Order: sequence, then C-alpha cells, then structure tokens
Amino acid sequence: MNAKEYTREILRLIRQTSPGQEEFYQAATEVFESLVPLLEEEHRYREHSILERIILPERTIIFRVTWMDDSGKIQTNLGYRVQFNSALGPYKGGLRFHPTVTLGIVKFLGFEQIFKNALTNLQIGGGKGGSNFDPKGKSDSEIMRFCQAFMNELHRHIGHTRDVPAGDIGVGAREIGYLFGQYKLLTANFEGIVTGKGIGWGGSFGRKEATGYGSVYFAEHHLNRHDMELKGKRCAVSGAGNVAIYTIEKLHSMGATPITCSDSRGTIHHPKGIDVKTLKAIKEVGRESLEKYAQLHPDATYIPLHKYPEGGHATWSIPCDIAFPSATQNELTIVDAKNLVNNGCKLVNEGANMPTTPDAIDYLREHGVLFSPGKAANAGGVAVSQLEMAQNASMQRWSFAEVDTRLFGIMKSIFDTAYETSKEFGDEGNLIMGANIAGFRRAADAMIDMGAV
Ligand code: NDP
Repeated sequence: MNAKEYTREILRLIRQTSPGQEEFYQAATEVFESLVPLLEEEHRYREHSILERIILPERTIIFRVTWMDDSGKIQTNLGYRVQFNSALGPYKGGLRFHPTVTLGIVKFLGFEQIFKNALTNLQIGGGKGGSNFDPKGKSDSEIMRFCQAFMNELHRHIGHTRDVPAGDIGVGAREIGYLFGQYKLLTANFEGIVTGKGIGWGGSFGRKEATGYGSVYFAEHHLNRHDMELKGKRCAVSGAGNVAIYTIEKLHSMGATPITCSDSRGTIHHPKGIDVKTLKAIKEVGRESLEKYAQLHPDATYIPLHKYPEGGHATWSIPCDIAFPSATQNELTIVDAKNLVNNGCKLVNEGANMPTTPDAIDYLREHGVLFSPGKAANAGGVAVSQLEMAQNASMQRWSFAEVDTRLFGIMKSIFDTAYETSKEFGDEGNLIMGANIAGFRRAADAMIDMGAV
C-alpha cells in the first residue's frame, strides 16, 4: 500500500467508527492528504503507527450538565471535553457553548488544535470542549448557573499541568470568570486552570486581542512574502465576536480598511471602515444584533442573512482585497469563493477554525488567491494563552507591549515554518501542506520518543 492508499484506509476506518462526525472527518481528511509527501519520505511514522494513534483522542469525556433556569425549571445539556493529544504538553484548547456543538464538532476542533499548538513551538498539547448550551437570550444568572454546573463535572479532569481550557464561540471573559470561580470553590485552589482570565486575577495583557491581532500579523507576513502589504487594502471580515473585533481593530492600526463585519443574522457594510467603538458597544457590552450598527451609522448598510441567496454569504459578495473569515466553520463556500475571485481578492486569511469549505479552498488556490489556513493564522490566541500559563507559573506579569511583541514574533515564526516546510516538500507557498506537515512532525516525533503509549 502506498502512502496515499494508507492514509485513505485510515480515513475509511475513521468514517466507519465515528459515524455522523462530518466536520471531524473533513478536518482529518485535509490533514492526512497533506501528509502524503512526508509519509513517502519518512517511514518511521508508519512504523510507529502514528496516524492510527493521532486520529484517536487519548480521552473523551461526555457528561450531563444539569442547571436551573430563572423560572425554576430544571434544564439539561451535554458537556464535552476531548483530550486529544498530550505529546507536547498539557491539553490546551477552548470551550465552545453553542447549540450546534456535538461530539463531531468538538473532535474536529480538538484534532486541529494538536497541529496548531505544535506549530507555535510551545509546550502545549491539543484538546477542546464545550456544550450544546445556547447562551443567546439567557440572563446573566442563568449563564452563571450553567457555567457552575459545567465546572461541577469538568473540574475532575483539568489542572494547570494536565488540561487548561480557554474560550471559544460563546465563551468569553464573563464565562471564564464563572468557570474559574466554581473551580476555586470546589478545589480550594487558586491555580491557572483556564486562560483568558481577568487581568486582575491572573490573566495576561493581550490575550483578549491575541487571536485577531495574530491573524492580522499573519496576513501581513504572508503579503510581505509576495511583495504586498496590508496598508491601503480593503478587508472584508466576517463575525462580530472576539476574533472579528480584534481583527478589525488591528487592521485599522495597520492602515487597512475593514469594510464589513457580520453576525448570525446579517452583515454590515461600511465602506469608510467599521467603527470599532460602536461594534464593541453593541457586541461586547450590549450583546445585541448588528442591525443597531446601521441605525447609529446611516452611511453603513445592513444586509439581513435571509436577503442573500442560499449557498453564499453577503460578506463575500462585497468587493475586497483581502478576506478574513472569522465567524465559524464552513462559512465561506464555493459560491463565495467565485465572488471573491471575480472581485479580485488577493488573500483569504482564516481567523476562524476551518471556515472555508474544501471545494472553495481548491477554487481559490486554482485561481491564484493566496490562502492562510486557520491552524496557522489564528494560532495567536493559543500562543498568548500559553504565555498566560508561563506568567502564572512564574508569578510574573508582562506588559501589553511585551506580550504583543512576542505575539508578532510567534506569528512570524509560524508563517516561516509553514512556508519553509511547503518549500521542503516541493509545493512552495502551499501553507495548508506546510502547516499540517510541520505541526504533525513535531507532535509525531514526540510521540515516537515516548514509546507505545
Ligand atoms: P464569538 O462567540 O466571540 O463570536 C462568534 C461570532 O461569529 C459572533 O458574532 C456570531 O454571531 C458570529 N457567527 C456565528 N455563526 C455565524 C454564521 N453562521 N454567520 C455569520 N456569523 C456567525 O467567537 P470567537 O470570535 O471567539 O470565535 C470565532 C471563530 O474563531 C471560531 O471558529 C473559533 O473556533 C475561532 N477561534 C477563536 C479563538 C479565540 O481565541 N476566541 C482562537 C482561535 C480560533 P452572533 O453574535 O449572532 O452569535
């Protein structure tokens, strides 16, 4: 069996043993397909059954979360923590609270996290968790009671050298605070068991901004390699959450113009540039719909989701030079890719995890659009999470400028590693392949060193 057949056989087995986990299968296929050139050259990974092992989580915890809503009714949700791979350090990866969360979604995110974390060159393994809990429309006390109930089970499985969760969709500073508070109550220990903590109680300056800022730094490094820069470019951004907001903020400071943002109900198009202050007030403070943005800025247009034909997204039909999909998985489709190409887009830089569908990626690359895969471009968040862990362990606090400088350097090093690896394997500039091989090689070599465990 050659390397291609070998990877396909493992993927076939995975599909058989993990039915209905489409997103996980999609992520695994992308990684395994890009490993073929490495497997052809290096036989040790096959000899040590690395693919067979790395595709299986070391541990999967699924639990019931029981909590009481404001009316006194008992509610239940499912909680997950997938501890995927600890070859490089404690499991690290966020928690997602969203009604679409299933085991397949958590496994896709946890699997991606192994390679992303390996790429940062820091000592962190890969994991992910979450719940199908929907925070929308819940009161602050309901959010708190849910987080406490979630931690009632999770606390048994995490620890500052074992597994350190962070935020993701639906889990921000507020939820991290409630989760940490409950952990402290249950264990009587004040330890860095989550990242994204408040600055006053163990958080790091720059963590909140890290994924968005890091994504913009990555885009700049990518453009520079092709003799271009962000300055003066029109950028379309999707999402209006943590990643999107800080992508937009950093784009302004780099001299680019972020012209869009979106939420699950619609897109804002503001040709003169999204006003970050208004966006933060609506999304971070008020937790309201983006429709309000157009009321406050009459020169901006609000395009409701249902007004756009199926199969595509309004954000990507607006002419731009660079696209930053920063909302959720599979949000940029083949319809969108065609619109971006027709409108002369030069780079798609993934801020979200797996936001571009496989056929859209192929189309973009075939038409000469540069592509930054999420596991490299959005690794700034987890990198600064690790810096938060390092500060907690050494009882130090670094300044915002120090963290930001380190983040800039880490994103440069991730870009260079992915780029040089793509060159090494004969497909210069294919950062999907470069990031997957570089991340895999680091985690896999550690697994070989540690024997059959
Ligand atoms: P948030 O919950 O802060 O924000 C998500 C945003 O995306 C919200 O504005 C939400 O809308 C919007 N959204 C969700 N679904 C859709 C959709 N189908 N179409 C348009 N908009 C949508 O999450 P984050 O910003 O933290 O995460 C965004 C992405 O980045 C995810 O893929 C996440 O895994 C990834 N990521 C996050 C990191 C982090 O540090 N936070 C690190 C690395 C990756 P609404 O407001 O209506 O809910």
